[in-house]
Amino acid sequence: MPKILKTISDVRDFTSLYSLINRRIGFVPTMGALHEGHLELGKKARNECDCLIYSIFVNPIQFGPKEDLDKYPRDIKDDLEKLDSIGTDAVFIPDNSAMYPNGFNSFVDIGEIGNILCGKSRPGHFRGVATVVTKLFNIVCCDQAYFGKKDYQQYIIIKKMVRDLNIPVEIIGADTVREKDGLAMSSRNAYLSKEERISATVLYKALNYAKDNFLNFESKDGLISKTIEFIKREKSANIDYVEIRNTADLSDVQSLKKGKFVLLLAVRFGNARLIDNIALN
Ligand code: AMP
Repeated sequence: MPKILKTISDVRDFTSLYSLINRRIGFVPTMGALHEGHLELGKKARNECDCLIYSIFVNPIQFGPKEDLDKYPRDIKDDLEKLDSIGTDAVFIPDNSAMYPNGFNSFVDIGEIGNILCGKSRPGHFRGVATVVTKLFNIVCCDQAYFGKKDYQQYIIIKKMVRDLNIPVEIIGADTVREKDGLAMSSRNAYLSKEERISATVLYKALNYAKDNFLNFESKDGLISKTIEFIKREKSANIDYVEIRNTADLSDVQSLKKGKFVLLLAVRFGNARLIDNIALN
């Protein structure tokens, strides 16, 4: 079983031994309720580093007041078994007071990129993510940290933050792991009813529709409306956004003639807000 680290000094004691002898530490931050998508990140780290550390922490400051913080799925016993199965060395499971002691009041401001896409309907979300990731990097002192491209905006924000603030961690992105029918694995899929779970398969089909038809469109608006039409065939789909952005930095796209683009979407099915994306070219 992985060694369970509860306090910040537990982590420091554990990682300092590895740093002392110049061993590479790979780190995978998560909120638990682990699935194959989370484990793929660790397997990649396992191959590339000498030591593999996960964190499991449902970070309260990245949830809005009306979001699912209390309902977020938690199953530490199952998580530990899964982490053991891929040879995890240690897992940091702090409680809220270790991460946010009384008087905590310093945040990482990541600017406008935190206000677009998911940031529009989740104000403050990425500020909370950037803050907790910075804290975790300062605690774990890893060499490489692994993030899923399923949360593409998060991945780009963390890469930018690390560059802007000269944080000495290499950010590695990993492709989205999907169920057999294409639905991106997510801890929040647990919120879907049987019918919603079937309806949600429209997302990956819509992403592929957009990718396959990309060359037929010169303007992004045409491709976006067709993709929205595609998703709306599922009556239970409630679209938050469908957008096309430049792949490298999520900046606005003027024309589809030149550049590399990603289509990103967020769609609600009942209580589950699902996100996904696809590289168009
Ligand atoms: P979370 O527990 O949702 O905060 O996710 C922890 C990490 O796992 C993040 O870097 C996510 O992007 C990544 N992740 C979540 N789902 C997937 C997936 N289906 N494929 C690849 N990575 C994922």
